[in-house]
Amino acid sequence: MTTIVQQQVLNKRIAIIGGGPGGLTLALILQKNGIDAVVYEREPHDTNRERGGSLDIHEESGQMALKEAGLYEQFQALARYEGEDFRLFDKSGKLYMDEVAEGDAQGARPEIDRGVLCDMLLKALNPNAIRYGYKLIEAVPLENGQHELRFENGQIDVVDLVVGADGAFSQVRPLLTDAVATYSGITMVELNIPDVANAHPDLAALNARGKMFALADHKAIMGQLNGNGSLKVYLCFNAERDWLDTCGIDLIDVEAAKAQLLGYFEDWDPSLQKYIRYASHNMIGRRIYMLPVGHQWECRSGVTLIGDAAHLMSPFAGEGVNMAMQDAAELALAIVRHGSELDEAIAEYEHNMYRYSSESAMQSGENLAIIFGEDAALRLKEQFDRIYLEFVQQANA
Ligand SMILES: Cc1cc2nc3c(=O)[nH]c(=O)nc-3n(C[C@H](O)[C@H](O)[C@H](O)COP(=O)(O)OP(=O)(O)OC[C@H]3O[C@@H](n4cnc5c(N)ncnc54)[C@H](O)[C@@H]3O)c2cc1C
Repeated sequence: MTTIVQQQVLNKRIAIIGGGPGGLTLALILQKNGIDAVVYEREPHDTNRERGGSLDIHEESGQMALKEAGLYEQFQALARYEGEDFRLFDKSGKLYMDEVAEGDAQGARPEIDRGVLCDMLLKALNPNAIRYGYKLIEAVPLENGQHELRFENGQIDVVDLVVGADGAFSQVRPLLTDAVATYSGITMVELNIPDVANAHPDLAALNARGKMFALADHKAIMGQLNGNGSLKVYLCFNAERDWLDTCGIDLIDVEAAKAQLLGYFEDWDPSLQKYIRYASHNMIGRRIYMLPVGHQWECRSGVTLIGDAAHLMSPFAGEGVNMAMQDAAELALAIVRHGSELDEAIAEYEHNMYRYSSESAMQSGENLAIIFGEDAALRLKEQFDRIYLEFVQQANA
């Protein structure tokens, strides 16, 4: 049986552009509250599995959203609590932090692979609620407050609410703001080492069960154990935007690329160089973009943004996916509260979202400055110690 609020919203057509973690979570929480929405995804099928590795899902944001979606128990069964292990080195191999997730204790930030997370969301979502092969070209505001959505496949839809969950280069964002994603100054080269425990037990032991950061000379090697036993490695460079085109490294020619990449880390400890030497296939160059920290727009009828579309930030605080999922929950619950008054729901959601997302964006920016600054390993340890102390003080207040 539907409630009065649901009946009011049922008459409204809600479009979510983008089937990443943010868009899927939003559709699912609406569905759980009896409200229909349609996700329009540009790819011909789900590609979340191919888009990066393990994500730590935070208690107060990502996990909160999973509770609202009714998936928390499933998440707990799939999450890797031991993935909270964290090691921090400098280039000489000196160890600054060695955090080990304790026994059976369930920490606040367990890991899950992006593909596994999105599979879980997709399985719970009504299959009719997602349309693949729908790349939004343009959203045109109509005089009656609705939006006409024009897709590359020739389809046109008219909706009452359009939510841009379409990531860094959102096609919905220009309806609200002139802000564009700008290059952060950091470029990553992603490497993969399959079955690291069996193929390279020495590196598996060094990396432990979670994440490893080695920082020095405005560069970083970051290792991340994934749920399928592979190690994902991000080599991070403070570089010009066109460096990937001008550096002369052909990422298709893996062995030659490895030799060239090792050149950038020739005076790093041999144990850390193994993150490059053992890489086997599938090298990907990634430029890191961001929106201005604290960026806001004037509230407009029938349109809003969530996730990277709203507040793209560098990945150095591990907040992006958590913010996308928290936005999804905040917006969905505001819609549930306000019924057919969708504009009131948008206003309430945006007001809250600006506050928490700007804190995370600021944190990501601070971490970026530390990770690529002087004495990076020591400074990052001091930063984590400070955050931990603040957390303890707040908990005891
Ligand atoms: C290398 C790297 C590592 C990261 N590591 C972490 C981490 O450890 N922890 C963390 O929290 N975050 C991390 N992030 C950030 C995280 O990936 C993003 O913040 C998160 O994916 C945002 O989710 P989203 O749903 O807003 O957008 P996305 O995941 O980008 O999804 C957007 C979706 O919209 C679709 N789309 C785009 N344009 C259109 C269009 N015109 N029409 C229809 N569909 C469209 C896309 O195909 C995609 O499916 C990392 C990012 C990078 C680059």
